[in-house]
Amino acid sequence: MTAALSTVTFDVRAGVLGVDGARVACPHCGERDRFTIRVVPDDAGEAPVYVRCWRDHLWAESALPRRVFAELLARVAAEDPAAWAELNRVLAERGSFTVGM
Ligand SMILES: [Zn+2]
Repeated sequence: MTAALSTVTFDVRAGVLGVDGARVACPHCGERDRFTIRVVPDDAGEAPVYVRCWRDHLWAESALPRRVFAELLARVAAEDPAAWAELNRVLAERGSFTVGM
């Protein structure tokens, strides 16, 4: 599907819920709205993703296993083939893609 090192960055502006149902918060400053989350689309494991808040704090978020984002991208592929094709075109060209959410 994509090269191994291609990354998709989720640009979160209004918070994100973890698998425990609670809103993700920065452990350093408590930020709950603005984060970036960088994922490798093919990585569907249970390891946590790294989240960076807008104040540049970085942490491994155990409430967001990598499979959550793999499933999100699989849903885009199934429900919006045009968006999926565009995402893969950009990944092939630049190796990265940013999604606002
Ligand atoms: Zn922070």
